[in-house]
Amino acid sequence: MPRPLTLHLAAPRGFCAGVDRAIKIVEMALEKWGAPVYVRHEIVHNRFVVDGLRDRGAVFVEELSDCPPDRPVVFSAHGVPKSVPAEAEARRMLFVDATCPLVSKVHIEAARHHENGLQMVMIGHEGHPETVGTMGQLPEGEVILVETAEDVAGIAPRDPGKLAFITQTTLSVDDTADVVAALKSRFPSIVGPHKEDICYATTNRQEAVKAMAPGIDALLVIGAPNSSNSQRLVEVGRKAGCGYAQLIQRASEIDWRALDGAASVGITAGASAPEVLVDEVIAAFRERYDVTERPVETAREDVEFKVPRILRETVS
Ligand code: SF4
Repeated sequence: MPRPLTLHLAAPRGFCAGVDRAIKIVEMALEKWGAPVYVRHEIVHNRFVVDGLRDRGAVFVEELSDCPPDRPVVFSAHGVPKSVPAEAEARRMLFVDATCPLVSKVHIEAARHHENGLQMVMIGHEGHPETVGTMGQLPEGEVILVETAEDVAGIAPRDPGKLAFITQTTLSVDDTADVVAALKSRFPSIVGPHKEDICYATTNRQEAVKAMAPGIDALLVIGAPNSSNSQRLVEVGRKAGCGYAQLIQRASEIDWRALDGAASVGITAGASAPEVLVDEVIAAFRERYDVTERPVETAREDVEFKVPRILRETVS
């Protein structure tokens, strides 16, 4: 007789509106122009999604220079530096920008502050494509990157009285609040968004993990190692008191021995992880345990983003 185990299923979890839109853009581009369609950078940070699109004719490249000029290219949901569409235009390439509208909003914010003569401080992770894309909206030196509250003490802005801050959309809500507090304490006149720029999907997924953490012995976050919002969910789980919180890409990565003795396990998925992977993990638990499912719903989402007009007009 299998041992009983309760699976707490976070809601919301998995795909956000920006990821959904980006995948749709590649699918519609393939439908409209046929294969191959080039995609600059992983369209979203999930190998399962990327492999699925590759099978249908998408070709993933790191740089625009890796794309032939006569095939369409899609820019990823994370956003791109301004130089990328500029280069595509110079090469007369057909491109579709799948940057999430919530990332574009941060780009616009940065440009507006720059026009007002403010230097930017960006709270984000060095080297993450979204950070690279957002910093690349402004000329070199106009955006200072900080990751932690400790970093704030070490920065040397041009004029400490003329500063604004922006953030990556997929950060930890609580850690970012600490960095913002450090910025406001050192630069009292710094201008920023009402809240941070952390998006609704990141915020909601973190809230659901916080709500379930006291009632679970272990947390599994389905997501990719290079997915910022998925990594943050693991950290949020640990900080909320979950002794064992692990990132897994698929059911095959579950460390069953580490779950020995656990009576309740929480499951969530990062914004770029498809629900089919959640189903796979639940099925793996069902093979080993007498599972009771318990949804933990902290919010409902109905956000949807339109795909760019060039695709809407020609594909029914
Ligand atoms: S995580 Fe947020 S910002 Fe990123 S693609 Fe999804 S909705 Fe957009």
